[in-house]
Amino acid sequence: MEMMNVTLLVPVLLGWIAGLFINYASDVLPRTRRFSQPACVYCETPFSWKDYLTLRTCQNCGKARSLRTWLVQILTTSAFLYFWLFPSKALGIPLGMLVIVYFAIITVIDLEHRLILFPTSVAGALLGLIVGTSIHSRADGLLLGAGKSLLGGLFGFGMMFVLYQFGTLVARVRARKMLAQGKTPDDEEALGGGDMYLAGVLGLMLGWPFIWDALVLGVLLGGLVSFLFLAALLLRRRYSSDALMTFIPYGPYLILGAFYLLFL
Ligand SMILES: [Zn+2]
Repeated sequence: MEMMNVTLLVPVLLGWIAGLFINYASDVLPRTRRFSQPACVYCETPFSWKDYLTLRTCQNCGKARSLRTWLVQILTTSAFLYFWLFPSKALGIPLGMLVIVYFAIITVIDLEHRLILFPTSVAGALLGLIVGTSIHSRADGLLLGAGKSLLGGLFGFGMMFVLYQFGTLVARVRARKMLAQGKTPDDEEALGGGDMYLAGVLGLMLGWPFIWDALVLGVLLGGLVSFLFLAALLLRRRYSSDALMTFIPYGPYLILGAFYLLFL
């Protein structure tokens, strides 16, 4: 019993370190597009590594670290502990932890900046191919496993590409309508271009045919939440025809769908 309690320190410690990395990537990548020296999000004064990694208050402006920083630390540590005790059958512990870190970085950056960065998509494609091949090669052998992973990636990307083209078409019609009404068109997109790369990465991870389930799940979830959002607007009588076109950040929903399939 005592032995078990001691070994639980391993996932807690790993989870805390992973949380620090997720926070670091989410802080610097959207700003500098590389792993640069971390800086205060409020006053941009660079942090010393010691202050940054011990989550200290900014020495220059005195503002405490963001709520997100703490949320990420707590959620990542809890997730690592949970999936250490109840590992994903598809992924096992080490790959599962890598996927959690990847999903968390994409989700935080997408929620805060509505952005899916190209370099994170490239890194994700590599991770996706490894994960997808390892999942599928168990039953199908290495070559066919890799093939299923690639097919899933192609399908995910292609499916979102078609949706994206449709979204661009809708946006163009809408811009024309707004011009006709004498309004200046804005640059709302129903589906961000980054979602195509994300769907490709998730497709590589899940492989064919599971990517199909993840996409359906993600799009349904995203649609349901936007429907509830619209219904709330209607109830409060703040509905306008523009609300229908409001940007839906599908990224987090796609990730939620994939997370459900991979871990639960
Ligand atoms: Zn500061």
